[in-house]
Amino acid sequence: MRPEKIVEGLERFSKRLGKKLTLNKGKVKERYTITGDIISYSICPRQYGLYRFYGFSPSNPTQEWYGSVIHRFLKRAHTIYRIKGRVISPDEVEEIFRKVETSMEAEGIRPTSPKVREKVISILKEFCRLYGEEFIPKIVEAELRLVKELSEFILYGIVDALKEENENFEIWDYKGMDRPDPSTPYGKRKLDIYEKQMFVYGYLFKEKNGSYPKKAVLLFMNELVKENGSPLYAIDFTEEETIKKVERFIEEFSEIVKKIEKSKESGKWELPKEIDKKTCSQCDFRFDCEKFSSLR
Ligand code: SF4
Repeated sequence: MRPEKIVEGLERFSKRLGKKLTLNKGKVKERYTITGDIISYSICPRQYGLYRFYGFSPSNPTQEWYGSVIHRFLKRAHTIYRIKGRVISPDEVEEIFRKVETSMEAEGIRPTSPKVREKVISILKEFCRLYGEEFIPKIVEAELRLVKELSEFILYGIVDALKEENENFEIWDYKGMDRPDPSTPYGKRKLDIYEKQMFVYGYLFKEKNGSYPKKAVLLFMNELVKENGSPLYAIDFTEEETIKKVERFIEEFSEIVKKIEKSKESGKWELPKEIDKKTCSQCDFRFDCEKFSSLR
């Protein structure tokens, strides 16, 4: 289109609008997630800034493969149920697992050892044996995306599975790990973080549907193959105390977003006041980190 035609069109549009067009675009709202932004920043602003804003990639592919293969397998199990109307049996696990594994290999994501691979297969078999028939048919949506526009930013989250039973909804999140031990500072901190993740999902669900889900359930997958494993950790949204905690955390969330935006503007990504040695010992940036040196 010729430039003069574009100008003519804009003049007509401006007249119809009843005001002059300006170049003032206003502030574009950023999208923040609980896992990728708020939790990561709360654990260590420096690590978050280096990964998220300076583009470094984590060098630990095992953890990425482990969590991802479990999530993709469970999504596929749900899809098979939707299409074929039947739940996969433990005997089919290896065949479906191989398909998931092949698609991940094509993306360059591989397990680091055959032992890790075997462990995941036995976890998935156990999942199908214990929860397949009882859980999969009740999933109404896998990887449910929830979004809410707040005054300063957009809040976003993906729920692994939404389960419905007798018109009660539950949000489920799969964790490819052991259940954290709350008697240790590290375990307590981890559980607290996961609870907050579920608070945000519960809040987003309520904003979309008008009421909170009945509960949120964390499924710690590694517990499935332990002798006295305890895989399920539930958060009850029917309790008043839980709702108060959710509301408090949504306010806290907004404050953390403000801090992230300030760090982005200034380019300063602070060290955390407190952090545990275990988290730092898995960090790619520990070798030139004062905080890590002080923990040794
Ligand atoms: S070593 Fe610890 S304190 Fe230092 S950047 Fe990494 S996570 Fe943060």
